[in-house]
Amino acid sequence: MGSSPAARGPSTRAVDSRAVPPPTAPKGTHDLLPDASTAWTWLHGVHAEVAGRHGYRLIDTPIFEHTELFERGVGTGTDVVEKEMYTFTDRGERSLTLRPEGTVGVLRAVLEHRLAEEVKPLRAHYAGPMFRAERPQKGRFRQFHQVGVEAIGERGAQLDVEVVEMGWRFLQALGITGVVLQLNSLGDHDDRLRYRQALLGYYRPLLDRLCDDCRRRLEVNPLRVLDCKRDQGLRDSAPLITDSMSEESTGYFAEVRAGLSAAGVPFEVNPRLVRGLDYYAHTAFEYWHSSLQGAQNSLGGGGRYDGLAETLGFPATPGIGYAFGVERLLMVATEQGSAPAPEPACDVVVCSFGTAQAPAAAELARVLRAAGVRTVLDASDRKPDRKLKSADRLGAQVCVIVGEDEVREGAAMVRDLGRRTQARHPAARVVDAVAATLAAGDAA
Ligand code: AMP
Repeated sequence: MGSSPAARGPSTRAVDSRAVPPPTAPKGTHDLLPDASTAWTWLHGVHAEVAGRHGYRLIDTPIFEHTELFERGVGTGTDVVEKEMYTFTDRGERSLTLRPEGTVGVLRAVLEHRLAEEVKPLRAHYAGPMFRAERPQKGRFRQFHQVGVEAIGERGAQLDVEVVEMGWRFLQALGITGVVLQLNSLGDHDDRLRYRQALLGYYRPLLDRLCDDCRRRLEVNPLRVLDCKRDQGLRDSAPLITDSMSEESTGYFAEVRAGLSAAGVPFEVNPRLVRGLDYYAHTAFEYWHSSLQGAQNSLGGGGRYDGLAETLGFPATPGIGYAFGVERLLMVATEQGSAPAPEPACDVVVCSFGTAQAPAAAELARVLRAAGVRTVLDASDRKPDRKLKSADRLGAQVCVIVGEDEVREGAAMVRDLGRRTQARHPAARVVDAVAATLAAGDAA
């Protein structure tokens, strides 16, 4: 700000605009356009409502954090940290990263502000953009959006049931059918140490059949190898986590399964489900949908992350959460017809016929808006028939016309655009006349 434009700002040299292609959105990003915003708002509203019904309140954290937070939290050896982070150095030489997921930031915020010390668990829901430098394809973007929840400060099978069931109820509230809930347990820290040894024992002799990434990952985090997208059938014979699990962990998992069954939430136990990120323990789950293909078949997922707080340098604090991909949910909800159709821009257009009538039209628009009617004012100097066409295009049901005669008589013409009928009303009666016309249209 303090520096001169010549030092910092863009070049002021004349550019031949014909030689420069017009700008486009960066690869892997997309614009939310007004027609899509009805379904977008609906989905976010449904999530906030379902979460609110369970006692979860909104939390919002920065979209960038110190890079170290994700390196420590998400974990070295994960795809996300190794190759997918958007990391940059700011002007103070700090390394910052656009968040690739929501849990780590929410946990940081909750623990930084000591929110989980009195209220246990602290229940919060969030929504917002996430950033991963992945290869864009159907259902996979570089900027995408998630809605999610976290319950921080308590470890207990019933809380796991609450979170998994809430995700299920959310999908039901969206009217999405055909979801298969995948459930697994990753055991506790000691179980995973044992499992790690079992995996090392299995994969080490097969090293030459692993991809380059996995060869490197095997020693850092052998669980990651199970997540390999290029696996050549080796996973099928790999040891299962359940074989390395203590009696306590086995009992915990049984309790979660029993709780879900009692809640009437159907699930499939999938012993191969490890989830992409490093910090999970015990319950891990994903909501799969067949209309999404291949590696992109997951609408959302989550798990328990009891070791994460310590990894970040906070006192040990257990937690569990889920995250859903908004774009994927909307894709399925739209395909299945449960997402709402685009809402028109307005219900009423007030048109002045003739420039002298603009102030009277503007006043009527003001009165309608004050009465809560979604109103667009067309005080342009376009021809009357153009104005009526444009009101139609906006999706309005009613056009209020203010011409020379109407102004003289202190009135306005209320035109039902659907039925193509119209009647003149005194200005003071316009709100009632519009309301009656809209109601008749709704009832039809
Ligand atoms: P994850 O944090 O990887 O478990 O992701 C949770 C959910 O976010 C997934 O089930 C997807 O619905 C969504 N998601 C993850 N990565 C992407 C992406 N690159 N593009 C679109 N959605 C994504």
